[in-house]
Amino acid sequence: MSATVTPDLVRRALLRGRVRADPIHRPPWALAEVEFLDACTGCRACIERCPEQVLVRGAGGYPEFDPKRGECTFCGECADACTARALDRAVGQPPWHWMASVGADCLARNGVVCVSCRDHCPEQAIGFRPVVGVATPQIDNARCTGCGACVGVCPTAAIELRDAAACEAGP
Ligand code: SF4
Ligand code: SF4
Ligand code: SF4
Repeated sequence: MSATVTPDLVRRALLRGRVRADPIHRPPWALAEVEFLDACTGCRACIERCPEQVLVRGAGGYPEFDPKRGECTFCGECADACTARALDRAVGQPPWHWMASVGADCLARNGVVCVSCRDHCPEQAIGFRPVVGVATPQIDNARCTGCGACVGVCPTAAIELRDAAACEAGP
């Protein structure tokens, strides 16, 4: 008889980093991962309150931000809905530490004119630096909020949100 996967089993696997290798993007103002998993009840209130519908139910029933669905405007509705304080704006920390990173599949980096990400960035954090041939996107780390607006609009899904410290350290 096969074992049933319960939220608790998934939680333990998440804590051990065994379920996924790619980063999990929790909703903004989430506590550090271990504390978040302890506090979150999986009630879905944050998901239901998000006016942008960018939060989804992820592994184990815990909420995740899916930038492919759109932009987080940092309105704070999700944190305000979280009575368990798994999302906590009161601590005065930035909402998260994600930053956009442009990968090798970028059309412009492959010689095809495309400025879709720049046109959708609300922070004007994407500049196109003319190099030889087609201008390519450069992220201004000081401006990028990790809002995700550029992720879903990229025709080749070349943009991901990475830990800001890793982005500042370079590719
Ligand atoms: S801050 Fe607002 S837009 Fe962002 S995930 Fe929370 S509810 Fe959605
Ligand atoms: S509102 Fe809070 S407790 Fe409920 S699912 Fe969202 S993060 Fe978890
Ligand atoms: S994630 Fe950064 S670069 Fe992308 S749209 Fe948001 S602020 Fe602009």
